[in-house]
Amino acid sequence: MTDQLVPRIQLNDGLSIPQLGFGVFKVDPGETERIVSDALEIGYRHLDTARIYGNEEGVGRAIAASGIPRQELYITTKLWNDDQGDAATVQAAFDASLERLGLDYVDLYLIHWPTPARDRYVETWRAFEQLRDSARTRSIGVSNFLAHHLERLIGETGVVPAVDQIELHPYHQQPETAAFAEQQGIAIEAWGPLGQGKYPLFEIPEVTAAATAHGVTPAQVVIRWHLQRGHIVFPKSNRRERMAENFDVFGFELTNDEVAAITGLEREGRVSAHPDEVD
Ligand code: NDP
Repeated sequence: MTDQLVPRIQLNDGLSIPQLGFGVFKVDPGETERIVSDALEIGYRHLDTARIYGNEEGVGRAIAASGIPRQELYITTKLWNDDQGDAATVQAAFDASLERLGLDYVDLYLIHWPTPARDRYVETWRAFEQLRDSARTRSIGVSNFLAHHLERLIGETGVVPAVDQIELHPYHQQPETAAFAEQQGIAIEAWGPLGQGKYPLFEIPEVTAAATAHGVTPAQVVIRWHLQRGHIVFPKSNRRERMAENFDVFGFELTNDEVAAITGLEREGRVSAHPDEVD
């Protein structure tokens, strides 16, 4: 298995992103280097981390140890809520993330949550534009923004995020936000693509029937559903065999009916707090 098989999604800023990557939320900082090294060995080239995960250093050590040329990797990190603010505040948080990662640029930098109670995301976004202009982040985007946050951000700055990284899995598909994003040319990154293991996604007949039909696992069916719906995904696993399983999703294709049946599972079953309430 190599990264050559992973399609790239075109972004609205002219750049592109590998559609399948590896996420490190809740990966223990002490184990991150080993786990990310495993992921890179398997073939993953797109890594998704964040300041708040506390494991940027481990991601950076794995990158350095891999010897993989920097231009073959796609690295995302995120600005945490208490670092939102003016240009100097955002710049300092960004510099600290780059230093922990041991990199001189990232491919994508995201505002992690809108945190409307702070009311600083528009100001923060203007600072993100400056970071992108400095080329130390190639693309800029947001995370957990609902349609009304996106509308305000775009209305007040005229700058459309390249991506919106939102909770999205068969039980929580956020159709309103996804439709608004599509209309604006914003790519959707689906976090919690497997529902974080909090729902019995792998036991639902719509998923198990497709798994049996294609001779694959239910997790592979769910990841394949995301890919065929056009989402960018980065499932997390601490286990090497599951990392390999989650990456091995290019040898089969779901039928339109199978995709539609899984899409029909929507039930507003979120795993996180509502983005208007997270501070
Ligand atoms: P996922 O939906 O990727 O689920 C991860 C869980 O599924 C873990 O418990 C893992 O267990 C299990 N799992 C993984 N692969 C398999 C498999 N093949 N079969 C059975 N179980 C499996 O949840 P995440 O929250 O980690 O989402 C993915 C990434 O999205 C994060 O790592 C992070 O990068 C990003 N994210 C972003 C957020 C945001 O606010 N922007 C919020 C949350 C996540 P095990 O490790 O034991 O294999």
